[in-house]
Amino acid sequence: LDKSLFVPNGLDLTPNARTVLERRYLRKDTEGRLLERPLQMFERVARHIADAERNYDPRANVQATAETFLKLMTDLVFLPNSPTLMNAGRRLGQLAACFVLPVEDSMDAIFETLKNAAIIHKSGGGTGFSFSRLRPKNAMVGTTGGVASGPVSFMKIFNTATEQVKQGGTRRGANMAVLRVDHPDILEFIFCKQNNGDLNNFNISVGVTDAFMAAAARGEMYDLIDPATGTRTATLNATEVYNALVRQAWKNGDPGILFLDRINRDNPTPALGEVESTNPCGEQPLLPMEACNLGSINLARCVTVTAEKATVDYDKLGRIVHDAVHFLDNTIDMSRYPLAEIDAMVKGNRKVGLGVMGFADLLFKLGIPYNSEAALETAAAVMSFIQTEAVAASRALASQRGPFANHHRSIYADMEQPAQRNATLTTIAPTGTLSIIANCSSGIEPLFALSFVRNVMDDDRLLEVNPVFEAVARQRGFYSRELMETIARRGSIQHVEGIPDDVKQVFVTAHDISPEWHVRMQAAFQKFTDNAVSKTVNLPREATVEEVRSIYDLAYQLGCKGVTIYRDGSKEHQVLSTGATA
Ligand code: UDP
Repeated sequence: LDKSLFVPNGLDLTPNARTVLERRYLRKDTEGRLLERPLQMFERVARHIADAERNYDPRANVQATAETFLKLMTDLVFLPNSPTLMNAGRRLGQLAACFVLPVEDSMDAIFETLKNAAIIHKSGGGTGFSFSRLRPKNAMVGTTGGVASGPVSFMKIFNTATEQVKQGGTRRGANMAVLRVDHPDILEFIFCKQNNGDLNNFNISVGVTDAFMAAAARGEMYDLIDPATGTRTATLNATEVYNALVRQAWKNGDPGILFLDRINRDNPTPALGEVESTNPCGEQPLLPMEACNLGSINLARCVTVTAEKATVDYDKLGRIVHDAVHFLDNTIDMSRYPLAEIDAMVKGNRKVGLGVMGFADLLFKLGIPYNSEAALETAAAVMSFIQTEAVAASRALASQRGPFANHHRSIYADMEQPAQRNATLTTIAPTGTLSIIANCSSGIEPLFALSFVRNVMDDDRLLEVNPVFEAVARQRGFYSRELMETIARRGSIQHVEGIPDDVKQVFVTAHDISPEWHVRMQAAFQKFTDNAVSKTVNLPREATVEEVRSIYDLAYQLGCKGVTIYRDGSKEHQVLSTGATA
């Protein structure tokens, strides 16, 4: 494979994308000098992922597959998750972004998991844990006669370890901690991040059941159960616990909430165990010891524009989905997993998470406001199409490569349809860094600002304007540098003079959109997504605790798998702040 790969359209990266790639993604020598350029990075990834073809056909045209994969990436229509870009074809070789590790109730097991998490962080993966199986604080320790310190104290150790590994790793390690609402330490957990900076490498989520949600709606009592003994330790009022978690989320964004029964209704392999946690940003529920690699399609580049109108280019989108599923399935084979158990779980279920980015840009191009029924319809149309095509692609792969090994033990076993190669296909990731590389809006989020000032080195200040907005502003004749600077200061264009009303209607940003629309958009995507959806529901600073509660309630009613809110100004440190950490 030494023929060079063919790139028809060159590579159109913004200076910002180049900076991100140079800092963390491109190969360097020991002195920190770059050993590859962005195009060579994409070639390294394409060749490595295409190599999996040999596993299935010794005479496969690996070169042709590599060219297909390369074009997907260099056209910026599809990008695999960051660990694939960073590690493919290199010594580390770990390509997945999402892991969930078990935390069993013994000293040995806890520290074994801590070690495994450190190894995963080093390779750019994020880890989720359920701490629900740990005996509560002050429970007896059989072998020593002492008392246990409980889930939250162990989370602090994980947090410190993450902090240290961060220094040498490819990017910051991120964690998710889940505690079931019926764990005796639930109140300590709900408040464990109340001081900004505490447990700064963790997102936390309370795992709630349908029974708990019903009890909370009716003001009923419910039992706390010691997971080690199975005995009841106390009884709490469900409404009061729910209110406590809502109030805490209002105060500083944490905890989020996970609807465990909803998540497990979509568990494709219940015979292998229950889903107890997700990865750090919540988009990927996984079984303990399972990992998943993600990839995202840039919807901003799937539009046909004519003089009269813009439409979604479904032919192009369909082709991308098929190639992307092929890419992600190959990635499973080419990734080196840090543990034999993880390797076996991943190869057994072959979960992949294909999602989207650039959705807000797509809506701008189509002339559809994010906060409208038409936007929800677009979301449903696009995502149901991706889901259907992804399943078709996975079935086509299964016919050549066989279904995933646990297929006969999965919910698909008794179905009439042809078998799939992958237990799950779709996930909506945050795409914090990928969207910078592809120069599009992140995930399914609305834009935060249409124009903003970026501080670059040596106190240079660079004005950046959303490209779709800039094009419209120029075309409609209201573009001026002064106006763009005003918009950068204000954040929103809604109250800026000199912009036509129809433009104001379409170009809405996060804070112009009411929290309800944020949740309804999340639900619209969830309906056609196997795994979960990463989404932050933005609230203005003056939002009330009651509003937060109604957002949590609405997310539950609409079938979301979890919900994360952020009230303006409520949190100084976020585990992942887009871009800046890349
Ligand atoms: N992630 C992580 N550390 C980071 C960013 C991301 O561990 O600094 C993991 C985490 O599991 C997250 C997932 O990668 O949920 C996907 O995040 P995102 O889509 O933002 O990553 P990207 O591929 O754009 O870098």
